[in-house]
Amino acid sequence: MIKVKESNQKSQVVILRCETYDLEEVRTQLERGIALLGGWAQWVKPGENILLKPNLLAPDPPEKAVTTHPAVFRAVAESLQQFGVNLTYGDSPSNGTIEAAARRSGLAEVANELRIRMVNFKEGDTVEFDGIHHRHKAVIAQGVLESDGIISLPKLKTHALVRLTGAVKNQFGCVVGFNKTMFHAKHPVVDHFAALLADLCLYIKPRLYILDAIVSMEGNGPRGGAPRRTGVLMLSADPVALDATASRLVGLEPDRVPTTRAGQQNGLGVYRAEDIELLGDDLDQLKIKDFNLGIGMPGFVIKNIWLRNQIVPRPQIHPDLCKTCGLCVNACPLRPPAVDWSKAGKEQPPQYNYSTCIRCYCCQEVCPEGAITLAVPWLGRIFGHSSSR
Ligand code: SF4
Ligand code: SF4
Repeated sequence: MIKVKESNQKSQVVILRCETYDLEEVRTQLERGIALLGGWAQWVKPGENILLKPNLLAPDPPEKAVTTHPAVFRAVAESLQQFGVNLTYGDSPSNGTIEAAARRSGLAEVANELRIRMVNFKEGDTVEFDGIHHRHKAVIAQGVLESDGIISLPKLKTHALVRLTGAVKNQFGCVVGFNKTMFHAKHPVVDHFAALLADLCLYIKPRLYILDAIVSMEGNGPRGGAPRRTGVLMLSADPVALDATASRLVGLEPDRVPTTRAGQQNGLGVYRAEDIELLGDDLDQLKIKDFNLGIGMPGFVIKNIWLRNQIVPRPQIHPDLCKTCGLCVNACPLRPPAVDWSKAGKEQPPQYNYSTCIRCYCCQEVCPEGAITLAVPWLGRIFGHSSSR
């Protein structure tokens, strides 16, 4: 880390109007943002080996807004290469291979042209690090451990479990393959899982985060939602402040996002408006008033499993959309899976066992058809739970 923040300094977040993925527009806004932060020299040195960590959740095309857009990836990569940095890239998708996700998202084409090598995210080393509630053990990808530093390129999307996914959660893809899923089973309480994500981000510590919120995802995210033009590129070295600003952009109180709360708690960053210095364009002019936040976890923690199941939204399969691919069954971290084939066989949509389901929403996250949505149980409706701000 080159830049050291003084303890009494505010966290800086640059917010830039960027209406389209037109490469010239993205390049112009990116260069403006980097200049506002003092130039690349604040974050990297020529000759360093820097890993670009985009969001490559699944093999989906750019227009679905599941993955970091190739225009953002290209603009950042070209700018860093001009500065003399050696680049690699990688991610560990929750579904499909990295090769497929890179190809479908359009990133592989850019990377090949710019000679950016995809590094190993299929194998890693076990590391241990301290956290808010627990000491963690995780298998971190070799490509991460072998780099000199990371520039994180998250995508702004709704997320059933943690409400919004942006900068803090993007580093979960540094954990190798199925190890990720097991963390859901280990931390079924959302605030504990969010704490793991914040602790992991603090351990990985990317130097800078550049958030693709030009077209974001609203509704049933992070994979089955709808693309929504939000027209913004954001930069910060503080992922908590960046996520908090993104929350304000789409009309969600930052303290409703568990990863944001956890990130302030573990010292990763700050989310209160008075602790953040906004640079660039006027946030108030850019706010999206009718962004669909989807249905997510309530903003309070319920540890009693029975009560939790009566309040917390449950996943449900829409049979008309289901293509019986079985990805949801494979994604469930429980054994036996809480979503599984019924006696009717694999020609029929899988069925849920709500008494064992821990509401981690891995099944909803991987469904390529958007066939899994969330429903609020009757007691949850009485508690007034909806897409609460
Ligand atoms: S619900 Fe989605 S992931 Fe599950 S079998 Fe149907 S299409 Fe596949
Ligand atoms: S059924 Fe879905 S939400 Fe329930 S535990 Fe399995 S993956 Fe998580």
